[in-house]
Amino acid sequence: MRKRLLIIGAGTGGLMVANFVGRDLHGEIERGEISVTLMGEQEVYTYQPGFLYVVFDLMRPAQLIRPVRELLAPGIAFVHDRALRIDAQAHKVLRAQGDPLEYDILVIATGSNLNLQEVPGLAEGGHWFYTLDGALRLRDALRNWQGGKLVLTVGVPHKCPVAPLEFTMMFDEWARLRGVRDKTEIVYSYPLGRAHSIQSVADWAGPELEARGVRVETFFNLESVDPAKHVASSLEGTDLPYDLLVAIPPHQGDELGSTSHLTEAGNWYPTDRHALSLQGHEDIFVLGDATNLPVSKAGSVAHFEAEVLADNLVGLLTEGSPPLHHYNGRAFCFIETGLDRATFISFDYEHPPTVPGATNAVHWFKQTYNRIHWANLKAVM
Ligand SMILES: Cc1cc2nc3c(=O)[nH]c(=O)nc-3n(C[C@H](O)[C@H](O)[C@H](O)COP(=O)(O)OP(=O)(O)OC[C@H]3O[C@@H](n4cnc5c(N)ncnc54)[C@H](O)[C@@H]3O)c2cc1C
Repeated sequence: MRKRLLIIGAGTGGLMVANFVGRDLHGEIERGEISVTLMGEQEVYTYQPGFLYVVFDLMRPAQLIRPVRELLAPGIAFVHDRALRIDAQAHKVLRAQGDPLEYDILVIATGSNLNLQEVPGLAEGGHWFYTLDGALRLRDALRNWQGGKLVLTVGVPHKCPVAPLEFTMMFDEWARLRGVRDKTEIVYSYPLGRAHSIQSVADWAGPELEARGVRVETFFNLESVDPAKHVASSLEGTDLPYDLLVAIPPHQGDELGSTSHLTEAGNWYPTDRHALSLQGHEDIFVLGDATNLPVSKAGSVAHFEAEVLADNLVGLLTEGSPPLHHYNGRAFCFIETGLDRATFISFDYEHPPTVPGATNAVHWFKQTYNRIHWANLKAVM
């Protein structure tokens, strides 16, 4: 009987798993022995790391968006619909517009969303670059920037753990190049007692920010924003007046998890840290931002997880073998430290990162990656 693999979420993780499996099981799919279906609520894929460059007019939206169907390996079906509920007992996914989809093996790759409602006043008084619309609105605000006080706040959890640092360092250099840095005050706030959650990154970032004349405000958990008075207030009782508030809003998982009664607080799926199976379910797997794993919510993590998961799925679909390959918590993040230099961190469950000195070469490597990401998604690399 034909084995059916269903993947929910046509983002980084979902597309990569679909394409890795599709590439390896091309023959079985062609012969009708195995089916691979990717379900996504968006017909286009959007490369989110590009938002950071949109803000500074360094990339255009059209460079970040491609139709999902163009990115899929041959033989993989795409269903453009929203998953409403997973019925794990019946092996079915109920959806918004069509009949339920049945599966033998299910992969959940539904990512993470901004939770703007958690902070009263933020939607009205703040900017963010974690959506394309938000990045374009912030880009427009920066085009008119003549100086003033920019306050950056960080909500938790959030994806791309180094993006707040990257934005701050890029903004500093951008303001210098525009000749408005001496009229610009930059405040980088962070919810913990240091500049980053990863100790080695915090040890590196503190002096880097100081050298750029950025004020670091620690223990600042954004609680509310007063859009009329232009004041951001923290749980800890600190008020930060601002001319421009750039927030990294707190994130949550898609509500599919809670309507299916499969997630914990924050809508994150309890996931086995090595096999990537949903705890208590041998036929459901989770990857990318949607997991509750103690790893960064990053595209690189979704990529490394997809490689491991796809190998295990191939074994499961063809031989019924249990997961043989283990995800080790691997993550890799470029860190832009201005407009023409960058560094990177590479780490896993057992090995925390160190931060090498920034170079122009790493910056250009990141620029290149921004343009070849599509090949990665298509699993041709
Ligand atoms: C500004 C910014 C900068 C970043 N920079 C980097 C970086 O430099 N390096 C890096 O590694 N990562 C970076 N990231 C993070 C990276 O983009 C994400 O971690 C990655 O996309 C996560 O992949 P995913 O597959 O889990 O989720 P996503 O890629 O977000 O995909 C989830 C998909 O599931 C769909 N979906 C959700 N719910 C449903 C449903 N119920 N039914 C159907 N479809 C559904 C969504 O519409 C979406 O298409 C950045 C992110 C941002 C916002």
